[in-house]
Amino acid sequence: MLYEKAPAKINLTLDVLHKRLDGFHEVEMVMTTVDLADRVWIRAIEGGQIKIKSSVQFVPTDRKNLAYQAADLIRTTYGIKQGVEITLEKRIPVAAGLAGGSSDAAATLRGLNKLWKLGLGADRLAELGAQIGSDVPFCVYGGTALATGRGEVIQKISAPPNCWVILAKPVLSVSTGSIFKNLDLTSVQHPNTKDMLEALKTGDYKGMCRSVGNVLEPVTMDLYPEVTVLKEQMIKFGADTVQMSGSGPTVFGLVEHESRVPRIYNGLKGFCREVYAVRMLGERHLFD
Ligand code: ATP
Repeated sequence: MLYEKAPAKINLTLDVLHKRLDGFHEVEMVMTTVDLADRVWIRAIEGGQIKIKSSVQFVPTDRKNLAYQAADLIRTTYGIKQGVEITLEKRIPVAAGLAGGSSDAAATLRGLNKLWKLGLGADRLAELGAQIGSDVPFCVYGGTALATGRGEVIQKISAPPNCWVILAKPVLSVSTGSIFKNLDLTSVQHPNTKDMLEALKTGDYKGMCRSVGNVLEPVTMDLYPEVTVLKEQMIKFGADTVQMSGSGPTVFGLVEHESRVPRIYNGLKGFCREVYAVRMLGERHLFD
């Protein structure tokens, strides 16, 4: 039995530049993995099938599951006949803007590469991942990166300065597609990605806090006022900066001083069921 850790990501920045002719959006995102992770267990089975088991009932276990798609793709591409059982121990909230499904798919690619001794490099796995979803290539590597293109062009960058991340997810699931549909690119305020990259390069915590930005945030906040409330509360309890991750609805706060973490965590726990205090994984990449 093989084990792969599948960590969540947060978007320090998320910018949408324009809509492309192929229907995808051209994006620019600074992403980093955090220490809130699904556990993916992989084992070979008789019968040549792909079986998915999930600890969360409403996650699909058929070909709609991104881990299934990853296994199917790698089997077809490399002519593998052996069956596989993939057990997803979900810890990352689902449909939350934390790339849980994409990270499971990436972990499946890494795991099957080992199980079937394919000897593929991270770049090749990321290429395969791009066929499954735009966030999968980043999740193959983990760590901290600038993602461009439709999200699949990955450039490793300096890890963020040390800090705590408080994640809070309101009780609602957001479909990424619906947020993009409501995005009006003529009236958005673009984050300053250059400033973020500079802050990370120089290890400037305050600069990082100043430069967080997500072009999708106002769209999700318009549709779901709960997200605005959560942001306000997190600031009130003492986070240095607060922002929504991905298309939401999860909101994250950055906190430099550990002594402030319990107040924010406990304050949010008073009215929000899913709250996590975690560390960024920084430069620890997932591919060895
Ligand atoms: P992103 O940040 O990439 O938009 P997300 O965190 O918003 O992702 P996911 O948790 O990946 O969203 O789930 C989105 C939908 O994908 C779910 O509603 C679920 O039906 C489906 N899904 C497919 N595979 C998985 C998986 N392995 N884990 C969770 N959800 C999955």
